[in-house]
Amino acid sequence: MFRKIIVPVDISTLDKGVDIFRKAASLLDEGGKIVLLHVIEEVPSYLAIDVPADLIENAANEAQDKLAKLRGDTGVDAEIELRSGPPAREILACAREQDADLIIIASHRPDFSNYLLGSTADRVVRHAGCSVLVRR
Ligand code: ADP
Repeated sequence: MFRKIIVPVDISTLDKGVDIFRKAASLLDEGGKIVLLHVIEEVPSYLAIDVPADLIENAANEAQDKLAKLRGDTGVDAEIELRSGPPAREILACAREQDADLIIIASHRPDFSNYLLGSTADRVVRHAGCSVLVRR
């Protein structure tokens, strides 16, 4: 099946994270590795002056704790990686750097503006150099 799977988790929708993490575990080769990834979105520079200095650090700590809890609750081994920047760009960069052979991403609830895929999933599917599973 797959030897290195990237599971990008938006910590504001953790239930989706649990679902795609479990799916990853079911598709992983013996001896393979799962990377649980959260991308902290950067504050635009024109707003940065109003943002408390420790905001990014707090966001990173919160994400680390939530991913560690998700991993503990699920009982599946995984490496936790935090990056910052635009989510799609960083998910793609992580997959490249880790030489992943699969990205599992959650799709969002369809609505009028974006019928099948949200913007992050859409960009990842278009640009990934490895297979992408979009979980519905
Ligand atoms: P929507 O935000 O409308 O639900 P997206 O396509 O933006 O749809 O997001 C779908 C999936 O992309 C998420 O469930 C998650 O797997 C991944 N994702 C989005 N934002 C992030 C983020 N900041 N860090 C990690 N993964 C993310």
